[in-house]
Amino acid sequence: MKETEPKKLKQDKLIMKLCHKCGHCHETHVEPEKCQKCGKAFLPLNYFAKIHSDKTQTFQGLFAESEDLAEEDLIKGLYVLW
Ligand SMILES: [Zn+2]
Repeated sequence: MKETEPKKLKQDKLIMKLCHKCGHCHETHVEPEKCQKCGKAFLPLNYFAKIHSDKTQTFQGLFAESEDLAEEDLIKGLYVLW
């Protein structure tokens, strides 16, 4: 009898990002493009590596989903994967 694995939700990892301007904490499944409180625009994680490796990608396409991120992608003190 085949054992069934529990279905894993695609987006069960949560990105927690602190705004470096106003301190507002965001809880999202996709990197926030700007602060929901003060409107400060954010760059995507690994921005410079991404723009040099794939010049055809749109700016909005550079913001990663939580499932595509690992601890080494994060900026310590501003991001946490939960
Ligand atoms: Zn802010």
